[in-house]
Amino acid sequence: MSVTAPEAVLDVLRGEQFAARATAWERAGAVPREDVELLAGHGLLGLTVGTEHHGSDLSLVDVTEAHRLVAAASPSLHSLLVVHAMVCHALRRWAGRETRDAVLPELATGRVLAAFALTETGGGADAGALTTRIDRDGGTLRVTGVKRWLSFGQIADAYLVFGLTDGLDSCALVDAGSAVRVEPEPRTAGLRAARLARVSFDGATAPAARAVGRPGTGIPFVATSCLTLGRLCVAAGAAGIAQAALDLAVGHAATRSTGDRVLGDHQLVRGLLADAALATESAALYVRSAAKEVEDRAPTAAVTAARAKLLASRAASSVTATASRLLGAEGQTEHHPLARLAAAARVHEVIEGPTEVLQDVVATALLRNQGAAGKGKQR
Ligand SMILES: Cc1cc2nc3c(=O)[nH]c(=O)nc-3n(C[C@H](O)[C@H](O)[C@H](O)COP(=O)(O)OP(=O)(O)OC[C@H]3O[C@@H](n4cnc5c(N)ncnc54)[C@H](O)[C@@H]3O)c2cc1C
Repeated sequence: MSVTAPEAVLDVLRGEQFAARATAWERAGAVPREDVELLAGHGLLGLTVGTEHHGSDLSLVDVTEAHRLVAAASPSLHSLLVVHAMVCHALRRWAGRETRDAVLPELATGRVLAAFALTETGGGADAGALTTRIDRDGGTLRVTGVKRWLSFGQIADAYLVFGLTDGLDSCALVDAGSAVRVEPEPRTAGLRAARLARVSFDGATAPAARAVGRPGTGIPFVATSCLTLGRLCVAAGAAGIAQAALDLAVGHAATRSTGDRVLGDHQLVRGLLADAALATESAALYVRSAAKEVEDRAPTAAVTAARAKLLASRAASSVTATASRLLGAEGQTEHHPLARLAAAARVHEVIEGPTEVLQDVVATALLRNQGAAGKGKQR
């Protein structure tokens, strides 16, 4: 199988056809499996997978650029890219060779779609509050529990499930099948085509080789490193949403006349546009530099990814709100592209760590550093 050139992927994402398809998905409320397979054929699902497993092994800066472009057109499809990248990352780094070699090529080519199954009813933002069980029974893993709000869970072939093994948090890849019940979640206003599912595992089994990491590493290593990548990717998506909303606002302000002036002639409108542009560009630049840090596995990478997601998701919220004001009535209509961008921006402040939780992560790191500096002075 040939390795897909990154430029070819970017060409598809920049094309008119992709934007038109994205609009159709949002209206229908579902990204169809056939379209995912078509895009996977261009290498979209293998961006973070190594070439030896049929991926294109892009640098994280290039990955975030692709994510930015996808989210600008379709925040729903973008959520598939995020969770898929997180599952690929977990397998690449934490699975045994047998599972890695068998599953990664399937994921990279889109023959297998995987969902990321962390959230439970009793533990949303608090990812550590797991009740799902992953019991070991000889050479078999047995999974029992219910996971909520899984992006593309409705059409996933496999689930990366986090749960407890003998009281220690752990992780396993479980195929869809008879003991796995999939029910659609209510459609959310943002990412309305993301095929969200509530998935119940009723003693679902998997070979022991499908354990990802050892018991005790599930949250502090596997989930945490997945969330670092996920937050970076969500930040890139939010930067894309902000850019798309800014483009709509500038286009409108430059052409909409009321009386003898276009909107963009009003000083207050120019101020809004300038602020929106700076918020958008700051987010994009921060995401780029965060991507390098995560790529280099810098000790600060997890906090930097949290900062990137905090900054970019808030930029998406503020820029979509500005665009919504400037577009007036036109921007309030149900199927206007701005409506899905604004709703997606709101979701971006909740997923992969809500804004308040990320503020806590960032502030904790600041205070810890200050504490370390203070202790140094005392000595
Ligand atoms: C579109 C969409 C896609 C999703 N996809 C996935 C997926 O693929 N896989 C998956 O596992 N999950 C997924 N989720 C779930 C998502 O990760 C959770 O919604 C998120 O973790 C927040 O959990 P919660 O909704 O239960 O909110 P809660 O935990 O109830 O929090 C609600 C709000 O309370 C505040 N809050 C919570 N904790 C704190 C705190 N410590 N300090 C201050 N304020 C706080 C925040 O404002 C937060 O937004 C998805 C959700 C959505 C909406």
